[in-house]
Amino acid sequence: MMIPDGDRRRESPETETVPILANGHEVDALWFRSRLIDWGRDHFRSFPWRVTNDPYRLLMAEVMLHRTQVRQVLPVYKRFMELFPDIAALARATRESIHDVMRPLGLHWRIDLVADMAADIVGRFGARVPSDRDELLSLPGVSDYIASAVRCFSFGLDDPLVDTNTVFGLPVKPSSRRNKRFRELLDGLLDRESPAAYNYSLLDLAHLICLSRRAPECGRCPLLASCATGAARVAVAT
Ligand code: SF4
Repeated sequence: MMIPDGDRRRESPETETVPILANGHEVDALWFRSRLIDWGRDHFRSFPWRVTNDPYRLLMAEVMLHRTQVRQVLPVYKRFMELFPDIAALARATRESIHDVMRPLGLHWRIDLVADMAADIVGRFGARVPSDRDELLSLPGVSDYIASAVRCFSFGLDDPLVDTNTVFGLPVKPSSRRNKRFRELLDGLLDRESPAAYNYSLLDLAHLICLSRRAPECGRCPLLASCATGAARVAVAT
């Protein structure tokens, strides 16, 4: 995954404001995207599943990353792809062999889901991971987050990506991630030209700064000026 050049956005004199729910001000979405993607280009975390757009690899990586640390996933993912390089190979594998590879990740219930998912993709979709949201969500073990990640990072579709970590970087905190106005905010902020770069940057910002153990890190954050959480953290620290 290469982070696209954000120079064009940075030089643009235009603004594109997005109404904010909680604190009554607006955020310039062009500023937000430019700051985020510029930062993300310099801090991109390169993992094997981020240097491919193969939807099978992205799908398996997202399933493994569910509630699991990246450092645990890395060796398992590499071994998994050596043994099962495509969906057909996975569908032919025995459940025991899949269990053997994925056992170090814990959450053993998802191992059977992976086997069921492979059989379903072969049986209903001709061994091709679908890009349609409803079809993805119809697969065993595919959550809303996983469907969005596969659609964005594999197929380049402009799906917002929101989980408990990425909401840190947003200008307001949602009372519920299903809140309609919050979803509109997400849609308004998302970079439609570079959705993968935008979403990867948001993920990396959350992991490298928002959730840093050397708190508070908000003082060096590119989004501090628009961040409700950051403003509160800085106020407490001073
Ligand atoms: S200001 Fe702080 S909480 Fe907000 S996005 Fe930046 S690091 Fe995260």
